[in-house]
Amino acid sequence: MAAVEMTEPAARTDAGLDYDVIIIGAGISGLYQLLKLRELGLRVKVFETGTGVGGTWYWNRYPGARFDSESWSYGYSFSKELLQEWDWTEHFSPQPETLRYLNYVADKFDLRRDIQFRSRVVAAHFKEATRSWEITLEDGSRHSARFLITAIGPLSTPTMPRIEGVESFKGASFHTARWPHEPVSFEGKRVAVIGTGATGVQTIQEVAKTVGHLTIFQRTPNWCAPLHNSKIDKETMEGIKKRYDEIFARCKETHACFVHTIDPRRTFDVMPEEREAFFEHLYASPGFGIWQGNFKDILTDRKANAAISDFVARKIRERVKDPVVADKLIPKNHGFGTRRVPLETKYYEVYNQPNVKLVDIKETPIERITPKGIKTSDAEYEFDMIIYATGFDAITGSFHRIDLRGTGGQTLKEAWAGGPKTFVGVQVEGFPNMFMVVGPHTALGNIPRSIEYNVEWVADLIRHMTERRLTRADPRSEAVEAWTENVRAVGEGSLVNEVDSWMTGVNRNVEGKQVRTLARYSGSAPAYRAWCDAVAVGGYKEIDLS
Ligand SMILES: Cc1cc2nc3c(=O)[nH]c(=O)nc-3n(C[C@H](O)[C@H](O)[C@H](O)COP(=O)(O)OP(=O)(O)OC[C@H]3O[C@@H](n4cnc5c(N)ncnc54)[C@H](O)[C@@H]3O)c2cc1C
Repeated sequence: MAAVEMTEPAARTDAGLDYDVIIIGAGISGLYQLLKLRELGLRVKVFETGTGVGGTWYWNRYPGARFDSESWSYGYSFSKELLQEWDWTEHFSPQPETLRYLNYVADKFDLRRDIQFRSRVVAAHFKEATRSWEITLEDGSRHSARFLITAIGPLSTPTMPRIEGVESFKGASFHTARWPHEPVSFEGKRVAVIGTGATGVQTIQEVAKTVGHLTIFQRTPNWCAPLHNSKIDKETMEGIKKRYDEIFARCKETHACFVHTIDPRRTFDVMPEEREAFFEHLYASPGFGIWQGNFKDILTDRKANAAISDFVARKIRERVKDPVVADKLIPKNHGFGTRRVPLETKYYEVYNQPNVKLVDIKETPIERITPKGIKTSDAEYEFDMIIYATGFDAITGSFHRIDLRGTGGQTLKEAWAGGPKTFVGVQVEGFPNMFMVVGPHTALGNIPRSIEYNVEWVADLIRHMTERRLTRADPRSEAVEAWTENVRAVGEGSLVNEVDSWMTGVNRNVEGKQVRTLARYSGSAPAYRAWCDAVAVGGYKEIDLS
């Protein structure tokens, strides 16, 4: 076990409360937040629904689940020792390896002793009299703390499609984010996959390897690009370990914390042959380069976006033999990169297999799930297994599953009725002493880089408060307005914000999420950090501290 460096213990906030800090969630955010607050000498407790650590990588055990971030850019960067100890075996790590990594981290820093598993938080109420939070678990037990930190994940509440008869199906059925812990065989089975987002794509290309027959129900095709994953040998890993400082410095500079840097040229600055060669190069390169390392105007200029979209459409047509199927796989309602780009490995070739069928449910909608399978407007299909790759109630979903109440008993749902309003994505006015790690309006992208920043910023603020014996932190209205306006302003002109997706707060399977909201901060991560740094350096004037 590694020794954790202790700073001078700050004054505990209140001996009468059960804890100084309660953290909800034991994913990447919750684990690091626990470690950082322990360093301040605080009494910290983590409550987690699952039976183990890892969050996303604990729950998403579906076949083919893996990173689209480079593994070595995704892991924690805070401990040089950890970086030197851990060997990634693939450039885009599969879920079991990432889960092993997070368990290794939990053991190395002795984190489990402060985590209570099988403990879903159902309510959290602010108590003005004691300036504290009281949380209630599913089993009815209550726990109090000065500070509440939500580390509940932007993509952690799965959604099922709103189709009649889901419960009536007699075969096996799974949501990808609630996949069983035991192996599932597809051999000889008739399997349906509903959904073709990033998760659906990963699932489909894996299931297709062994399945008896696979039917894919697609509502909206996505623009997918090749992942080009490969193994990391010992020598390469040694090289990566030597370059960690450089890698994380690079992630700090880029728009979305990936290793890919946006090309400073505009699409039509270059001759057609050069443009084509550049697109070919990106299509043949690993990871998100084609999205995050492309010409600088592909997500702001319609013509530029059409150029890259045409290029990828041609690739799909080349790879899928049946032109009718290829056409169905090409998105028509949004341009390349305006939704998160699923990265794939031989995904399009799956549709050339004789035992695979694509059903376009815009043409022939699903009417209901039946005891035997799925009934669309023109056919009845029988299945042994249905896989729901129908995604998440993203960003705000996990907040709305908790009865969260701030001052005067107002609920977070009420406070966010027209979409989230936050101060730097970390605080909500009227919810004093509550801090969100990667809440709405924070920089996402290569998410652990944003998590580390958020966690350290929150720890610094709590240190600032405990050192001064301050016990209440509520962001000022003007600061919330200014930040929310900034979130709106930096999103202007972005084609991403003109498209319905989880990134713009839309999910047709969730009531109240039919129209776009300001769900996400779409400016650059460096600009986000500059704003937050200025708040800290200025002594947190934007927050009413007392
Ligand atoms: C399939 C998939 C692939 C992804 N790939 C990438 C990638 O390649 N790169 C990238 O940057 N990001 C990726 N992400 C995003 C990923 O969610 C983040 O990278 C990161 O794991 C978020 O960590 P977190 O700790 O903030 O949240 P999570 O990992 O979601 O953890 C939140 C935890 O909170 C718990 N929780 C929630 N509500 C409650 C409650 N009420 N009571 C108790 N516990 C609760 C949950 O059980 C969960 O364990 C991916 C997401 C998915 C779903």
